[in-house]
Amino acid sequence: MNRVLNFSAGPSGLPLSVLERARDEFLDYHGLGFNIMEVSHRGKVYETMHNEIIANIKGLYNLDDDYAVLFLQGGGHMQFAQVPLNLYIGGEAQYANTGVWTKKAIKDAGILGINYRITASSEDSNFDHIPSDAGFSSDADYCYICSNNTIYGTQYKNLPNTHGAPLVVDSSSDLFSREIDFKAKHIGVFWGGAQKNAGPAGVSVVIIRKDLLDRVEYNEENTPAPMRHKAPFASHVPTILRYKVQAEANSLANTPPTYSIYLLGLVIEWIKEQGGLKAINAINEQKAELLYKAIDESSFFKAHARADSRSLMNVSFTSPSPELDALFVKEAENEGMIGLKGHRLLGGLRASIYNAVSLENVKTLVSFMSEFERKNG
Ligand SMILES: *Cc1c(COP(=O)(O)O)cnc(C)c1O
Repeated sequence: MNRVLNFSAGPSGLPLSVLERARDEFLDYHGLGFNIMEVSHRGKVYETMHNEIIANIKGLYNLDDDYAVLFLQGGGHMQFAQVPLNLYIGGEAQYANTGVWTKKAIKDAGILGINYRITASSEDSNFDHIPSDAGFSSDADYCYICSNNTIYGTQYKNLPNTHGAPLVVDSSSDLFSREIDFKAKHIGVFWGGAQKNAGPAGVSVVIIRKDLLDRVEYNEENTPAPMRHKAPFASHVPTILRYKVQAEANSLANTPPTYSIYLLGLVIEWIKEQGGLKAINAINEQKAELLYKAIDESSFFKAHARADSRSLMNVSFTSPSPELDALFVKEAENEGMIGLKGHRLLGGLRASIYNAVSLENVKTLVSFMSEFERKNG
């Protein structure tokens, strides 16, 4: 078997033991003679698995019953719309703009015609850092951030202060990578597509504080007159786009992506075996430190992100020229390392070092980099 070293940004590599277990269970799940994807999402076998995964996610993030864990479809892009549709109540939504993914969320806020404000931005310096002050205020309907900017390689070291307003976190590319104190950070919605750091494409993990579920139900019939301004979408949010509907149905309001959820569940179990989020984060820190050190100590490679904002997940960097970047990608592929081409909007190189990438894998990359520099520097 010839497995590559996978530095892809997403979909990305999965832990080998997860793939092996999926292979072993492919024809015969738990001795039952079927693949889990071949049975009803309303049956006991599926539902037991589904609930176990939810319990494991709650365990990893230390969530109490104030939070619901949902499995939704439509990817990250669906959340750009679902967040304002469900959380906006006629006040002001606040967005910190730190890259392409927040710009897309802001664009959808504009399409929906809500009152929003960009309270902080790093666009002037090509998103090379996280603004030191997000500028959020306590009276916001919600405050929106992207915790890890997959393209530019920046990440919030600490989630910003909302002064009590609900914080919405797009954690697509650092989901399950570190511990998060949901209560202390006033997290209202915390979500990510599984395909970056937690499994295959097709399912998003959406964690929502239950008191926010009712916001979608304000309408002229059930809302007292002085509150009517709080009903911008009134009763016009389609059923399947309501978090509340999926929360009440335990994410089984429609057929969920059962096989993606199964694989997500295997990844969650793997994270538990590694010692949970604290242990995973410790390894992630070691990996990132090694790679940034190699970049900083070379006069050949250069990191895009400012030192104070560097992502532990996506390391965006360049060699001295686009031609050398292209050669780097090609020669790395010859050595069995894939996914190192930078995003088309930023160019250059990018190594995504998600949970499934080991310290050994990063060491291999670092020695390849120093050899490449020696030959081409
Ligand atoms: C990939 C990504 C998205 C978009 O996810 P889709 O599932 O492709 O819609 C959103 N936000 C961030 C931070 C991402 O990395």
